[in-house]
This record gives sequence, C-alpha cells and structure tokens, in this order.
Amino acid sequence: MTFKSEQSVIVIGAGIAGLTAGALLAHEGLNVTLLEAHSQIGGCAGTFRRGPFVFDVGATQVAGLEKQGIHERIFRHLQGPGPVAHILDPACVVNLGDGTKPIYLWHDPEKWKKERTEQFPGSETFWNLCNQLHKSNWLFAANDPILPAKNLWDLQQLLKATKPINLISFLFSRSSVADLLWMCSCSKDKRLRKFLDLQLKLYSQKNSDKTAALYGATVLQMAQSPLGLWHIEGSMQKLSNHLRDCFLRDRGNLLTRHKVISLSLRKNRKLWALDVIKNNSTLLKFEASDVIFTLPPQSLLDLMSNESGLPENYRKILEQLPKPNGAIVFYGAIDRSNIPTDKAGHIQVYEEQLGSLFISISRDGDGRAPLGQATCIGSIFADVDFWSSCNDFDYKKNKSLVLQKILDAFHRTLDIDPQQWLHKELATPKSFARWTGRPLGIVGGLGQQPTTFGPFGLPGRTPMKGLLLCGDSIYPGEGTAGVSQSALMACKQLLSARGRQFNLIR
Ligand SMILES: Cc1cc2nc3c(=O)[nH]c(=O)nc-3n(C[C@H](O)[C@H](O)[C@H](O)COP(=O)(O)OP(=O)(O)OC[C@H]3O[C@@H](n4cnc5c(N)ncnc54)[C@H](O)[C@@H]3O)c2cc1C
Repeated sequence: MTFKSEQSVIVIGAGIAGLTAGALLAHEGLNVTLLEAHSQIGGCAGTFRRGPFVFDVGATQVAGLEKQGIHERIFRHLQGPGPVAHILDPACVVNLGDGTKPIYLWHDPEKWKKERTEQFPGSETFWNLCNQLHKSNWLFAANDPILPAKNLWDLQQLLKATKPINLISFLFSRSSVADLLWMCSCSKDKRLRKFLDLQLKLYSQKNSDKTAALYGATVLQMAQSPLGLWHIEGSMQKLSNHLRDCFLRDRGNLLTRHKVISLSLRKNRKLWALDVIKNNSTLLKFEASDVIFTLPPQSLLDLMSNESGLPENYRKILEQLPKPNGAIVFYGAIDRSNIPTDKAGHIQVYEEQLGSLFISISRDGDGRAPLGQATCIGSIFADVDFWSSCNDFDYKKNKSLVLQKILDAFHRTLDIDPQQWLHKELATPKSFARWTGRPLGIVGGLGQQPTTFGPFGLPGRTPMKGLLLCGDSIYPGEGTAGVSQSALMACKQLLSARGRQFNLIR
C-alpha cells in the first residue's frame, strides 16, 4: 500500500527537532506525517521507566523556556501550554577535581560576576568580551537567520537578521575561545582554562582551543538571567508530549514504530518515496513532496543508495563529516538520605579516569522518583568506534569496568556508598544506537569549531529539492533549544519554497 499526497510533508524522527518541525507545519495547515521508529517519542530527550523510577535518557536540563526563548516562542506560537519548569539556580556546580573550591553557576548575573571574580581573578576582560559577543550573537539569533545560506532566499534572510552590532561577531568568526583568552591575557590561568574546557565540552563537544569563540561566548552565559537553564517538572518527556499534543490537535499524523529504511527521489524529481517498516514486520510505502530529515545526516548514507538521487559530491561531504562523540550514561536511584543535602541538582566534576562527569539529581516530588528517593544520572563522553568494535565478551567486561569507575566517582563526589543504590544500569553508545537509531550511537552533533560553526557548518538545505535537514548537526547545534531553532529554520525554508512567508511570533 502506498500513502501518497502531492502536497504532503513527511518528517522523519520524533525527537525534539521532528516534533517541533511537525507541530509548526501542521499549525500552518500542512498535511504532515511524522514517522518515528521507536514506540515512544522524544529520542535523546525522552525518558524510560524502571519500576517506580523515571529516567531522562539524555537531556536533563533545558534552555530556551524563558520569555522570548526558543521553546517559549514556539509554544506561544502554537497556542499550546509548555511544560511546567523551574529555573536552575545554581544551574550547575563545577568541581575541577583538584581539591579547589567548586564553581557555582548562579542565575543572577551579579552573583555570577562576584563568583567568577573570586574564582578567576584578573579574568574580567575575558568575560566582558564574551558578553559583547554574546549580545551580538543573541540579537542575531533572535531574528531567526538562515545559516549557512545556500540560495538567494537564504541569503536575504541572513542579511535581514544581520545588524551593525553583528560586526563584532564577524570579526571573531574564525576565532576560538582559547584565542579570546589569549587576547585578554588570560591564557596562563590554568584553573580558568580547566573550567572552560569542562563547560564547553558539554555544549560544543570540544575544549576551549577548539570551540568557536562565537558559540562559546553564548553558551558560557546560558545559565544567567535573562536566559537560564530549566528543570522540567514530571520528566523530560513532558517537553515532547506538549509538542506532540499541539501536533495532533492540528491534525498531524504521528506514526510510531514506523522505521524509515530507505529514501529516494522519484525520477520526475517531484516526489520522495520512502520505504517504512511498521511494527518490525510490515513494509509500507510513503510518498511526499517534501521531507524533513532530523536524524544525524550520516544516516542518509545508509538510507539513500546510489540510485536514489543522492549526488556523489554530497555523499562525499557526508562521508567526510567530523566524527561526533558518543555518551556513556549511568542511571541510578537511591534514598535521598544518602545524598548530602547541600548538593545542587546538576554537578560537573573532573575525574582523572573518566574526564567530565555530568551528574543530574532529581528533586523530591518532581515525578522521577517516589518521595524520599531520587534518580541520579551521570554521563561521560565515549568513543563510538571503541564501543562498536568490541566483541560480546569485551563489551560486557568494559561495561562493568566503566560502571565501577562511575560508582567510585559517585562515592568520591557525593559520598554515596556503592551498596546503597536501589537501581543501577549503564547505557553505552551501543544502547544509544538501539534507542535513537543514531549510527554507532553518535550524539551531540558535529562539534562547534571555528571551521564548522555557523556559516561554515553543514547547511540544512540539501542539494536535493524537497529534502531539508535539521537536528543537532545543523546550526545552531545540539541541545533541545538548538534543534528547535534548526527545525524552525527548516520550516521557514519549506514554506518559502511554497511561496509562503513564515515567521514565528515574537
Ligand atoms: C547523554 C546526553 C545528555 C544530554 N544533555 C542535554 C541537556 O541536558 N540539555 C539539552 O538541551 N540537550 C542535551 N543533550 C542533547 C539533546 O538531547 C539533543 O541534542 C536533542 O535531544 C536531539 O534531538 P533531535 O530531535 O535532533 O534528535 P533525536 O533526539 O536523536 O531524535 C531523532 C528521532 O529519530 C528517530 N529515528 C531514528 N532513526 C529513525 C528511522 N530510521 N525512522 C524513523 N525514526 C527514526 C529516533 O528514534 C529519535 O526519536 C544531551 C544528549 C545526550 C546524548
């Protein structure tokens, strides 16, 4: 059976990018089908249940829920309620693992200024420069630019979003955060460098010497008012569920357990044909004039054969994309009495053997654990090639080795006795590949280096008519806020091709 409609849109993947794109287009009255391989929506920002505990799979904190933030604007535009959320203050406590005083990322900019002045004396020029860059970036991003521009319409949108203040961003477009440190005579401050390396890696996948200055300047101020990082009440799943509700209300067609196994452009170049496996058994065929693809772009290499319309030079571009990281995530549950009461909800600690360990602890009564108990999630970066090449024996052995190291780290950081865990399990890149369908379990996009960020990144507009990409490999990058921005960009491009102007409410 073929499901066909000349004007229809198919969105592949119901993570935050796909749900956002689907909801926005359905709200514009388009005929949208959202195909999701898993039985559950949310992807890397989804949840899973173990007995009485609900674990956030990947994302545990959210940017962009404040007034004029990207999630807030999208929910306001869709006229649907957003999730209930609380601002995180501190957003995170960063422990450099060297016995020195931890650094508190306060929400109040003045409090944060006092903290960083005490922690990193002599660094104010650096922070002021970051602040200038951030102001310029933020004004630019708020105008919903299209980046990188691939045709005249994209370029017009880009120029419309650019204001004289953005000249400063232009001047630093090829610089790294380490360059900013050098310009501000802060390169020798090893403690500051370690702090920046830890924090930047969380967002850009890279240390300060490899993170684009423009990107770094903004993410380093993500936790402070008027922006902020948020804790979602219930679980991370609420964000997806609220988007889904808007999508269904506007007559979107959501099909879970529908896995796309091939994608090709018909010979007449007017329709896309998709082969889809339903419930692991039935082959269905779909056709649509436009496809929004939210999986990592590397997945196109598997889904599109040589005869499918994928141009050879584009295949080469996809093959040569930098290899993203993977993640190892520990999901644990414990009685709250085992957690020191002065501990913040989010802690980043440097561990000699693990690198950055990012810990998220649920709040009492926030829907993730019964009252008096808590979920504790800890994530580290991982090499996807290493984990995919392990045979069964080595895989099990390495998994239990890493689990032990993480339990030891929890013991050192939070004084949690390894015997006290009520639940513990570990996800590796292999688990992420299974859960999200991401090749080898790559997560977090392509990294935000000066050579790959913004105008130098992979465009969402592909050389194939009617195929647009969004998600964490596309500007502005990873995180639920980032992928929503890229989904908005794809919707604007799609609607402009149909002769319609589309602007999100302000
Ligand atoms: C460990 C970890 C921690 C993180 N922490 C944070 C955080 O605290 N805050 C934050 O903002 N971000 C965080 N992120 C990043 C954030 O989760 C992601 O950037 C974002 O959720 C990606 O959304 P997406 O829609 O682009 O992709 P995905 O979430 O990967 O969604 C893609 C969807 O496509 C589906 N799919 C895959 N293959 C197919 C197919 N063939 N056919 C149909 N469907 C398919 C998948 O099942 C999935 O639902 C974290 C990520 C990880 C891994």
